[in-house]
Amino acid sequence: MSGEDRLNRPGPARGAGAYDVIVVGAGLAGLYALHRLRGLGARTLVLEAADGVGGTWYWNRYPGARCDVESVFYSYSFSPELQQEWQWTERYAGQPEILRYLEHVADRFDLRRDIRLNTRVTAAHYDEAAGGWRIRTHDGTTLTASYCVMATGCLSRSQSPGLEGLDDFGGSVHRTARWPHEGVDFSGRRVAVIGTGSSAIQAIPLIADQAARLTVFQRTPNFSLPARNRPLDPAELTRVKKRYPHLRELARNSAFGVPQAPDTPSGSALAASPEERAARYGAAWDAGSLFGFSDTYSDLITDESANETAGDYVRARIREAIRDPATADRLTPRHHPFGTKRLCLDSGYYDTFNRSHVALVDLRSSPLVRVTRNSIVTTADEHRVDSIVLATGFDAMTGALLALDIRGRAGRTLRAAWANGPRTYLGLAVAGFPNLFLITGPGSPSVLSNMIVSIEQHVDWIADAIQWLSRRAAVSLEAADEAETAWTAHVDALSAATLLPRAASWWTGANVAGKPRVFMPYPGGLKSYRDTCDAVADDGYRGFIVT
Ligand code: FAD
Ligand code: NAP
Repeated sequence: MSGEDRLNRPGPARGAGAYDVIVVGAGLAGLYALHRLRGLGARTLVLEAADGVGGTWYWNRYPGARCDVESVFYSYSFSPELQQEWQWTERYAGQPEILRYLEHVADRFDLRRDIRLNTRVTAAHYDEAAGGWRIRTHDGTTLTASYCVMATGCLSRSQSPGLEGLDDFGGSVHRTARWPHEGVDFSGRRVAVIGTGSSAIQAIPLIADQAARLTVFQRTPNFSLPARNRPLDPAELTRVKKRYPHLRELARNSAFGVPQAPDTPSGSALAASPEERAARYGAAWDAGSLFGFSDTYSDLITDESANETAGDYVRARIREAIRDPATADRLTPRHHPFGTKRLCLDSGYYDTFNRSHVALVDLRSSPLVRVTRNSIVTTADEHRVDSIVLATGFDAMTGALLALDIRGRAGRTLRAAWANGPRTYLGLAVAGFPNLFLITGPGSPSVLSNMIVSIEQHVDWIADAIQWLSRRAAVSLEAADEAETAWTAHVDALSAATLLPRAASWWTGANVAGKPRVFMPYPGGLKSYRDTCDAVADDGYRGFIVT
């Protein structure tokens, strides 16, 4: 590091417990943020509640947990050496392999010495006089930093289903998002799974392999596509590695963060003949890819009739996978347009319902009433169970942030600022909260994309901003009110032009009682978002107040 490149450090007085940057969270985002900020010469500390690194991949150890973006692209691109060295063994790596990868990253880049594990941040207050952040942790320690970077995760605060009587249940209760490290043996047990989102859809086939009886409690059937997971052939991996520079560039400049041919998607689904549509949808179905359908026609997410054509295709494929027509009917998604809740990728999910010891309970026709010591009671039946698996999702995007007591200028809380839903500038910053950065915050593409690509983009942008400020001896960067209002309105307008807000999805906060219903991620695509962020920076951080 040359002297010139070292950070000129404004902010709180230096001393023990004083940092240039404090990063909260040691998942994909926190690990890369530490590496990148350290590279600037910034004295950086990462605080992590867990007793290990990895975030999502540390916590979600349920059977079948794996990525649904291909591993060769759901992996860091910042280090050419790392991406050449690491050998992915499956098309969609399982949780243990992804966690091993992240642990390897922590070791390879010597990150652990600046990560404090078992440390939950409880509060972050902006100190106007000192021009920096005071961060309090669960044990009462206070640390200070010029900048605070929230790498707390979009899907890290798991959501409790609020089931009456759950505390009195005599058997075992497991949350997919807090799975025991030693695993769970369901052999001989009657197991209930509550929820049919991505986590449940991955776990159900494997739990069915072990359990004596499995009952799945479904509120909303989801659209799930076959993953077509397979071992990665070393020759194929070598071919990808050779083309990495090109493929990563394509991913960075795509709508979703995966390499896409520049000319896709094309045309309206309604302009194509039924045969043409069936051929394209068939190819997308066979591809085993989360984003495959987005490459078919350009109006699937904006036009209801176009959307129906894709929905009908997938519904037909689901129905043909299940032998019992009544079960097939209950598993067929009809409550939201195709793709307006996050699509799932599965390995044998629908076929699991052809097994004689697996049953599906439809909570729409017979809602859950309560849990007793040994059963789950619906309005229609009582189901005896020994174990309950809660796959009931997350207080997404805002949950982990609002769990903290975050206060900006004049002691204003983030909870108050976001009382009617999150408001940000670029999903990166909040007016009234100087030097606070959000990684993949609401108002950015985040969960609509391959998240690692969005994470790298945000970390790079934040690091560049901090370096830019330091070179000008500026003490703070703060989103201007007008810029935040305009950006929030822009994100609203983009989503209103699509079918996305129609579903009661976690993207809209509909899964959490009392949460304001706002479509939270930026739906305009990663490429156009990245261009906007770059233009803002090139324009001297347009829309920010630089002090
Ligand atoms: P996280 O990995 O969630 O890490 C946040 C960290 O912050 C956690 O370790 C948490 O303990 C810590 N933290 C939070 N609050 C505090 C606090 N107050 N104090 C201290 N520490 C705190 N995305 C994809 O693009 N592709 C996929 O295939 C994919 N698969 C997924 C599978 C599952 C099961 C889940 C739940 C999500 C998946 N996602 C996927 C989304 C995934 O969350 C992101 O890809 C990515 O892992 C997020 O990284 P992160 O570092 O931003 O957040
Ligand atoms: P989710 O998609 O929000 O699914 C939660 C499920 O629980 C839904 O079926 C929901 O029903 C149900 N539910 C919630 N509360 C309930 C209640 N009180 N009673 C009955 N049912 C209830 O959560 P998730 O499955 O954990 O996935 C969240 C996100 O994480 C995914 O969308 C994805 O982005 C990511 N993820 C990815 C993968 C992967 O394949 N790589 C795996 C897991 C997670 P409703 O739909 O009716 O609300």
